[in-house]
Amino acid sequence: MYRCGKCRKQVDLKPEDPTRCPFCGYKILYKERPKVVKRVRSE
Ligand SMILES: [Zn+2]
Repeated sequence: MYRCGKCRKQVDLKPEDPTRCPFCGYKILYKERPKVVKRVRSE
């Protein structure tokens, strides 16, 4: 999952797709990290 650097929409890119936003055509996409909540137990 990527996020467009311009319109900030989430972009789901397939490997064969060109790296550009399908909404606005912007070519810089940021990799979106899946939300992983790390629980660190403090003892
Ligand atoms: Zn965009």
